[in-house]
Parts: sequence; structure tokens; C-alpha cells
Amino acid sequence: MTAPPKKLIIAIDGPVGSGKSTLARRVAEMLGYVYVDTGAMYRALALKAVRQKIAPDAADALVTLAHDTRIDLRAEEGGQRVFLDGEDVTMEIRTPEVSQAASKIAVNPGVRQVLVAEQRRAGQQGGVVMEGRDIGSVVFPDAGLKIFLTASPEVRAERRWREHEQKGDAIDLKTTLEEIRERDRRDLERTTSPLVRARDAVVVDSTAMEPEEAARLVVMLANGNATASKAT
Ligand code: C5P
Repeated sequence: MTAPPKKLIIAIDGPVGSGKSTLARRVAEMLGYVYVDTGAMYRALALKAVRQKIAPDAADALVTLAHDTRIDLRAEEGGQRVFLDGEDVTMEIRTPEVSQAASKIAVNPGVRQVLVAEQRRAGQQGGVVMEGRDIGSVVFPDAGLKIFLTASPEVRAERRWREHEQKGDAIDLKTTLEEIRERDRRDLERTTSPLVRARDAVVVDSTAMEPEEAARLVVMLANGNATASKAT
């Protein structure tokens, strides 16, 4: 009887709107893995900071807040629910205001340290698809498979704008594109854990790709890597 393939850590990194969440969720579903959206952790903490009126540049206060905060990601069919100190904030963390606040607090090295430790705890057993900006480069540099997902800024803005439109958020395409560019710039330029493509990451450009196609590609790569790492 053949042994089941090794359970990998699959890291999916990429800029805003590249399709990471859809891809990571689908791959986790296809492989029976756990899905972890690390952006949701930055968002939940940002929501708490906004509610407590802590400024995004109040470095020490934010680190203290991170230590005093409990963020739980609970799997549910087709995704995850996000709990902030026990309160379900799955919807609240998706507003444009929280997106910007999350992007601003994410430049704080002390905040990152706290959240990265949580992310390592969540993924260390393997059998996980974790998405973010620094998963393959910092959180799990030894991940069994690393994907760097990209798409053109225009396509990314349109995807994000459609999501907002469906939820009834009043934001136009031009503003969405500007906000995406601003968040990209912060992710790329920050000193601690900037968004970079890990050297051993496979680049997948989702500009002209259906989500299902990208998911099948990643599952194929995962199956290949799981077999290769079992043989070595
Ligand atoms: O992925 P999402 O857009 O939900 O993430 C919200 C913000 O959190 C991003 O704009 C990014 O700046 C930050 N983030 C990060 N590192 C991660 C995940 C998200 O800096 N691993």
C-alpha cells in the first residue's frame, strides 16, 4: 500500500487583488488542507486599533495591542471566519478603511513579530495553505511549495472594485486603483518583510487565468512536490 503524500505547507504570496484568497481557499479545499488568510490577522488588529483610536504610527501602543489581542481564524465551508477577542468580525474587516489601516500597521516590525509567531503556530504541522505577503520569504522559508501570484494593477483593481460593489460599498474604480497602488507601495517599500518573490517561488500570473485553472496548476505542483519530498 502506498503511503499518503506528505502534508505540505503551501505559501501563496502576492499583491492586493492578485486572487490569493480565491486560489488559496480552492487549493485547500481540493487537497483537504487548512486555509489560513494572514491578511485577516492584520485586518483584525487594525480594526481594534481603529476602534480604540490608536494612530497607525503609534508604534509601541500597537505592539502592546498586538500582545493583548486574541485573533482566531476558524475554518468554515469554503472559507474562514475571523474572531477578534471572541467577536465575529469577518465582515467588518473588509471595509476600505480597515484595508488602509491594516496596510499601515503592517509596516510595524513589533506587530509583525507577534503575528508571524501566531502564523507559525498555525501552520507548523503542515497540511496548510497560507496566504499573505511574506509567507514564503519570512514565515515559512522552508515551505514545501511557494507560489508568487501576480496580475496587472488594472485587473487587480477591477476585481477588488467588483467585490466592493457587490457589498454595496460606495467606491469607484479610479479610487480603488489608487488605493491598491498605495497599499502595494507600502508593502514593497517597508523595511521589515517587504513583499518580495522568494527565490524558489513559482510565479503565477492570474491576469488572464480562470481561478479554477490556477488552482489546478497549484494542486499539480503540490502533488509533484509532496512526492518528491517523500522520495528524498
Ligand atoms: O491580504 P490583505 O489585503 O487582506 O491584507 C491586508 C494588509 O495586511 C495588506 O495590505 C498588507 O499590507 C498586510 N499584510 C502583510 N503581510 C501579510 C498579510 C497581509 O503585511 N502576510
